[in-house]
Amino acid sequence: MTVLSVVVPCYNEEKALPFFYDRIVEVASQLLQKHNTQVEFWFIDDGSKDGTLALIKQLQKSDDRVHYVSFSRNFGKEAGIYAGLEAARGDYVVLMDADLQDPPELLSDMLDAVKDGPYDCAATRRVDRKGEPPIRSFFARCFYRLINRISQTEIADGARDFRLMTRQVVDAILAMTEVNRFSKGIFGWVGFKTKWLEFENVERIAGETKWSFWKLFLYSIEGIVAFSTVPLAIASVAGLIFCGIAFLALVFIFLRALLWGDPVAGWPSMLCTVLLMGGIQLFSVGVLGQYLSKTYLETKRRPIYIAKEKE
Ligand code: UDP
Ligand code: MG
Repeated sequence: MTVLSVVVPCYNEEKALPFFYDRIVEVASQLLQKHNTQVEFWFIDDGSKDGTLALIKQLQKSDDRVHYVSFSRNFGKEAGIYAGLEAARGDYVVLMDADLQDPPELLSDMLDAVKDGPYDCAATRRVDRKGEPPIRSFFARCFYRLINRISQTEIADGARDFRLMTRQVVDAILAMTEVNRFSKGIFGWVGFKTKWLEFENVERIAGETKWSFWKLFLYSIEGIVAFSTVPLAIASVAGLIFCGIAFLALVFIFLRALLWGDPVAGWPSMLCTVLLMGGIQLFSVGVLGQYLSKTYLETKRRPIYIAKEKE
């Protein structure tokens, strides 16, 4: 008998959670029959302000497979994932959202790939972004294209956090104790043999998404800073390019003054140059600041989450 831990980070999910529980329980009984695999649940209450925790406690009363960790405040999904991986005791662990955007029916195939196949991980990817605002999809595509170009770590477009892992992979992820956690990068960074399963985008069953456009934008910056140092080189490259341009301009102006004299002109062009250079300098300092601030936060070695209750 093997044990599969299902880790579910939940933030204000009182509307979606009952639907999720009903579906996952059904799938759990199939897994028991088909794969001889027992399921345990770890719900991570990420400082919810609604009745999520009460609901989880209620589920626990009637089902002893249900466990939970409750945070002292909202620490974000990444912290929830970490807490869940830490708490899970199964031979295999799977991460799932509470809103049924990760179809539980895929679990059987995922387990097949990892349990009997040569894979350490079964990961999932959405083949489309149906039901998402087009502008968001556009920026998401741009982000993945950019980060894959400037990062050594492979970060798959459309990949979800919905992924089933062996104990070995879980331990590797837990060994990465950074506070700025960008899961998609972490999964890629630890490596291991991954089987990709694809499915069509499903819309959230109830409740609301926790991600605004602005939050996603900040999250993407975090991902870039965490998994690429290329932006740090921008200042040096820009500096070199502008040195070259300045040198050519100098030669040009010197020769022109020799041949045609030197009438005073060119204030507008001077102003443009000063503004451009100022902008590039501020941008470069800003990039530097991003890395510095992340370094600052990491050196504090604060815990990734604080649990108030665990059962
Ligand atoms: N979530 C969380 N903490 C947060 C935000 C989200 O634990 O601060 C959980 C949320 O409850 C859900 C999952 O992360 O189970 C994915 O969130 P959501 O569905 O809002 O994101 P989306 O699917 O829109 O990307
Ligand atoms: Mg969702």
